[in-house]
Amino acid sequence: MKFSNLFIPTSKENPSDVVLPSHQFLVRGGFVNQEGAGLYNFMPLGKIVLDKIRTIVKEELDKAGCNEVQLSFVTPISLWDRSGRAEDMGKEMLRIKDRHDNDFVLSPTNEEAMVELVKNRVKSYKDLPVNLYQINTKFRDEARPRYGILRGREFLMKDGYSFHSNTEDMIREFDLMEETYKKIFTRLGLDFRVVNADSGAIGGSGSKEFHVLANSGEDTILVCESCDYGANIETIFEDESEVDSLNELSYEQLQEKEVTQKCSCGGKLSFKKGIEVGHIFQLGDKYSKALEANFQDENGKPKAFEMATFGIGVSRLVASVIEQNHDEKGCIWTKNTAPYLVDIIVSNAKKEDELDAGIKIYEELKANGIDVIIDDRKKERFGFKMGDFELIGFPYAVVIGKKLQDGLVEIVDRKTLEKQECKLDEVFEVLQKKLDNS
Ligand code: ATP
Ligand code: MG
Repeated sequence: MKFSNLFIPTSKENPSDVVLPSHQFLVRGGFVNQEGAGLYNFMPLGKIVLDKIRTIVKEELDKAGCNEVQLSFVTPISLWDRSGRAEDMGKEMLRIKDRHDNDFVLSPTNEEAMVELVKNRVKSYKDLPVNLYQINTKFRDEARPRYGILRGREFLMKDGYSFHSNTEDMIREFDLMEETYKKIFTRLGLDFRVVNADSGAIGGSGSKEFHVLANSGEDTILVCESCDYGANIETIFEDESEVDSLNELSYEQLQEKEVTQKCSCGGKLSFKKGIEVGHIFQLGDKYSKALEANFQDENGKPKAFEMATFGIGVSRLVASVIEQNHDEKGCIWTKNTAPYLVDIIVSNAKKEDELDAGIKIYEELKANGIDVIIDDRKKERFGFKMGDFELIGFPYAVVIGKKLQDGLVEIVDRKTLEKQECKLDEVFEVLQKKLDNS
């Protein structure tokens, strides 16, 4: 891709309500722009990142045997009346009317619709299990949309629903999805923790959350430094005000809180801040019973499906990567989330030899399967292009400038900002090694 062909409206202006670095850098880097409260457009770079994340989510789910579907975003209110959730969801659920005065909602989640889809189509225990998912728009009229795309009103979610003939099989799938989610977040290059999200019965939790560790996270979690135990503090403290007061503390203040209690493994427990990017939940037959969704069991008797549900905040992940990976200059994308891996900066694109050398490296990297973009803009100066590189956060830059006469270019590592001279004909080799090791 060429910068001159790609619409990347970077800017020095901060959004007016900015608090978090991810919000600031995603807007200033030309990834997203705000359309209204909690409503965001994804511009070309943002869309590329969103699709990369979406692809990784899809690849891992498909490998685990899940089936992708796409449900209609607008759902009739009757569906929600039948499950009893029309009331429960309250104002988060946005209602609309059609021209005939019928009531609909913009889907905030899709348990009911998914049960209806499976009901009467999956008839026997022999047809089970089934795990269906979609990566689709959700709308929640959040009381406080904030932090850019971290808490939008319209957002992209992966929501999955599995159907089983018995609890044991449902728990097997729940465990499989936990492993699958770990693979997804690992591929995205994230430092994350799986935590118990409800106090649950001894021997296991029916609800787990996946948190990206970040100082700015809205949730407070307690994690063990020796084993993989973790819990959302909402599950530990009975008193809600205690949870609220801990949530209000900054990361630094939290670190000063001594935890006297030890983990059951004997390890030291400490508080961390997390961004919830995934949630898996053992539902049982709550929705299948309410919606009379049955199958025939081994004895020919009707039985309500055992269900589990699995969510990932796909658009929230875009911001989470940056919340965890940035510096004061801008974004630092991980290898599998970067819109492009290498930015070839032609210092002065009006100089034919510089532009030619840049294009030659560009073609070579592309031919070798490296995702590369060339900053071939004629009207921008070197300093501006370097600023865009740092703000957008491509993992590496190849700078073509004055040393070209000596057959040399400079490779810049976005994370460390270290520069390294490199011979023209060794650029691919050097970059390949760096990418392999990152
Ligand atoms: P939260 O506590 O952050 O409001 P939730 O418990 O309402 O999340 P779920 O209903 O479990 O979230 O939705 C699944 C996933 O969708 C969440 O883990 C989160 O990553 C994402 N998500 C939820 N609400 C939003 C939002 N307003 N904007 C972006 N992503 C969201
Ligand atoms: Mg919520």
